[in-house]
Amino acid sequence: MLVASWRARRLAKPETAGSIPAGHTRFNRVRINTNASQRREKVKTMVQILGLDVAGNPAQWLSAEQAVTKAVTGGIAWQWGDRIFVFRGGWNRRGERSIVELRPIVALAGRKSDVWMREELPLTNALLFRRDRYTCAYCGGRFSPRDLSRDHVIPRVQGGKDVWTNVVTACRACNQRKGGRRPEQARGLSLLFVPYAPCLWEHFILSSREILADQMDFLVARVPEYSRVFGLA
Ligand SMILES: [Zn+2]
Repeated sequence: MLVASWRARRLAKPETAGSIPAGHTRFNRVRINTNASQRREKVKTMVQILGLDVAGNPAQWLSAEQAVTKAVTGGIAWQWGDRIFVFRGGWNRRGERSIVELRPIVALAGRKSDVWMREELPLTNALLFRRDRYTCAYCGGRFSPRDLSRDHVIPRVQGGKDVWTNVVTACRACNQRKGGRRPEQARGLSLLFVPYAPCLWEHFILSSREILADQMDFLVARVPEYSRVFGLA
């Protein structure tokens, strides 16, 4: 599915989480309730909730358990999104079962915008390969992660830094062929696309295991046009 073609949907009005019962924090079953059909189905606890800071910037991917814990301890200011995840917890002495409803995007109460203090967002091979769509920057081939490597455009032996703006995805063959040289020093090798540092929003897209439609709409609306996120297949 092409991200660029995703319909930009109007985000639901923020809701307060005031009705969330306090108490239980151990939740052993997760169910999803979709608004459209009111159909309830079991989902894996793999679902991730996008936590925002007080300024509305993405702050953290929360596991289901983390999000529920935040909810029952008053750590969520408001929530957004079409889908509703219903978390059922333990039973209290009066025979009542605690229920927490969460939407895909939540604002974390009191969470400050500290991320802007970071000079560079974390760089890992997994994130880099996703940024470059698993495509070698030299031969243009698409490979599985195990056949890819991190190539320093200006090699480290020539003073190149290990930063987003100096690294591209390269297949092992091209990486070996290039060796400790710059692209222009290696005959027949030239960059097919340029490296760039993902912005905060793109970084959150890249670092999600499985992103929900509401979360993608929210994040991708703030990603600059040069981003390769728009080539996501
Ligand atoms: Zn290659």
